[in-house]
Amino acid sequence: MSRETVFIGFGSNVGDRVDFCDRAVTLLSLLPHSQLAGVSLLYETEPVNDGSNPGEGWFLNGVVQIETDIAPKSLLSVLREIERSLGRDQDNRSGPRTIDLDILFYGRRVINEPDLVVPHPRLHQRRFVLMPLSELDPLFVHPVRQRTVNQMLAEVDDRSEVRLLFPQPSTRYGSRPTCGPRLDS
Ligand code: ADP
Ligand code: MG
Repeated sequence: MSRETVFIGFGSNVGDRVDFCDRAVTLLSLLPHSQLAGVSLLYETEPVNDGSNPGEGWFLNGVVQIETDIAPKSLLSVLREIERSLGRDQDNRSGPRTIDLDILFYGRRVINEPDLVVPHPRLHQRRFVLMPLSELDPLFVHPVRQRTVNQMLAEVDDRSEVRLLFPQPSTRYGSRPTCGPRLDS
């Protein structure tokens, strides 16, 4: 098996958003055949209506980087399972969500299947994805668009607000690796 670098986007816009994000990151850090390689800071972001209907609530968003042997389809099922365990409403998936987990990049693989498209088809249009991604790997090249994360960020039209959550929550998982600038320096 060949371990691949995978970026997973997470978002929550209902309930205790910090706690849902924290739990999702923890569950991702515990996956077998995988290693947590990085976690972005948390961003507070205006809901964008680009296809789904998440409601009025602002999101907390971030990105996790893992190194994993779990195959893409299995990983998608795992993410669905985590969403379920964190109470995501399966009957109204496009509405407000306790947690949404999306595979952004799976190494440099390109996947086009009915239930799984990788790279995620809207990531290059979303500042709330590109900003945390750029903390983790600004020079990662999108395998289809052939642009780095930072280039896509410079070119994105999305004007919706994306701001660092302040203060950042102190995590229960003090040993987990975090990335990005320290806020107090
Ligand atoms: P969204 O995240 O777009 O708001 P959902 O979380 O309800 O909406 O996802 C809708 C469907 O998107 C899921 O059923 C899943 O099969 C599919 N999907 C396609 N590509 C991906 C991907 N890269 N990551 C996660 N889900 C994906
Ligand atoms: Mg999703």
